This record gives sequence, C-alpha cells and structure tokens, in this order.
Amino acid sequence: MIVDYHMHTPLCKHAVGEPEAYARRAIERGIEEIGFSDHCPMPPHYDPDWRMAPAEYPAYIEMVRRCQKAFPQLSIKLGLEADYHPGTEDYVRGVIAAYPFDYVIGSVHYLGDWGFDNPDLVHRFDGKDLFEVYSQYYELVVKLAGTKMYDIVGHPDVIKKFGHRPSKDYEPLERRALEAIAAAGMALDVNTSGLRRPAKEIYPSVRMLKTARSLGIDITFGSDAHEPKLVGESFAEAVAHVRAAGYTQFRRYTARKFELLPLP
Ligand code: ZN
Ligand code: FE
Ligand code: FE
Ligand code: ZN
Repeated sequence: MIVDYHMHTPLCKHAVGEPEAYARRAIERGIEEIGFSDHCPMPPHYDPDWRMAPAEYPAYIEMVRRCQKAFPQLSIKLGLEADYHPGTEDYVRGVIAAYPFDYVIGSVHYLGDWGFDNPDLVHRFDGKDLFEVYSQYYELVVKLAGTKMYDIVGHPDVIKKFGHRPSKDYEPLERRALEAIAAAGMALDVNTSGLRRPAKEIYPSVRMLKTARSLGIDITFGSDAHEPKLVGESFAEAVAHVRAAGYTQFRRYTARKFELLPLP
C-alpha cells in the first residue's frame, strides 16, 4: 500500500476543493490511505493570508471528520502542517495539543520575515549568497528538530524550490540537519510537489535521502496537493526515487505512533 500524508483544504486560502474531492481522487488512484495536513493557525502577525484563521481551527477538524464519515472505505488520517518559526514555539505547541492528530508535519517556510517559498517573493533571492541562504534554512531545520514538537519534516530541502543552488558544496549543511532529525526520531516527507516547481526534483533529493538512510531516518509520502487532482501525483516516481536511495519501507502514522510498511 501507499499513503499520501500531505494535502490541504480551502481553509488555507490557496487550495481548492472540498476534502471529499481529495478522497475521491485517492480512491481513483488506488491510494489506500490519505491524511489532511492543512497549514496550522499561527499568531496574527505570521502569514495570515496563507493559512486558516485561529477561529477556523475547529472547522478544519470537523471537515476532516466529515470526510472520514463519508468515505468509510478509505483510511483518512488527521494531520497538520505546522510551521517552525523561532518565537512561535509555545503558540504552535498549544495548537498541536488541541486535537488528537495522527501526525504533525513540521515545515520551515520563512527565513526571518522572508517567505522564501512564496513565488511573489522569489526576487529576494537576487544578489544573496546562496550558501548563506541554505545555511540559514538548514539551521532552522536543526532547531525545528530540536523542539521535538513534530513527527515529520515537511519538504525537507524546499529551499531549492525555485532552482537556486549554491555553487559551494552544501552537503554538510544537509547532513547536520539530518543528524538533528535522526536524533529527534522524525521522518522525512518525500514530497512530489518539487517536481512541479522550477527545482524539477522531489523533496528531498536522492543525495539527501541516501544520507538520511545511512542515519536510520524513515520516510513518509506526500503530494502537497492544493487541488484534488494532485492527490497521489507522481507517486510511482517517488517510490523509484526512494528506492534509488536504498529505502524499502515507509512510515504509517496513527495517533502520532508509527509502524513501518513495505514500499509497494
Ligand atoms: Zn500551502
Ligand atoms: Fe509547506
Ligand atoms: Fe503543504
Ligand atoms: Zn507544504
């Protein structure tokens, strides 16, 4: 079997389609288990246009529960994509504790005040030392892992999204982040949305996955679908991608505990 643990709902203001449409698409594509992981509520100053409002949080949970009832034939997990941003840890800890999630994805989307994965802000890469940008990103991933608040690292090398890659070897930055992830017992979100971006590569790269595997880090799968038709998108490629790095298993989460299942 295979699972898709990274998909969104219209509550985040940049996804379309009701959860039921995502569920139907999963069934169509033979994905046996899905999980919703919409962008979590954050304090009002942080990125309000790209996530559910705190007042909408109960509606998110209700939406997933409604979908679970409508599709008893499909396994549907309750997840969350929670940001890691220094200074918001206590707030996010409370958000995560409010409901019984099956898993929580932790993602870095900001370097300081720069939403570096936002297409409208891609110009802010211009003139920057890319090795320095990558250093800042992976430093935040180290800190994310150190909080032990999350189960899965979302799109682990998303800093490559628009195709910016330092000329200097940044493998040591990836390795340091992975060591922190291994120490925290977290899994990596093997996220096919990178194929649809200028990076034209699954997150994370085969190189990063090989290092991850050598450190004993497990994986999950996600399409990062923001529209129903993208559920399970490029999953055959994703399985080949992780096999190329030596993986034979992936994690399935229930109530924030995992079991390992063989790759399809
Ligand atoms: Zn999103
Ligand atoms: Fe994300
Ligand atoms: Fe996402
Ligand atoms: Zn995401």
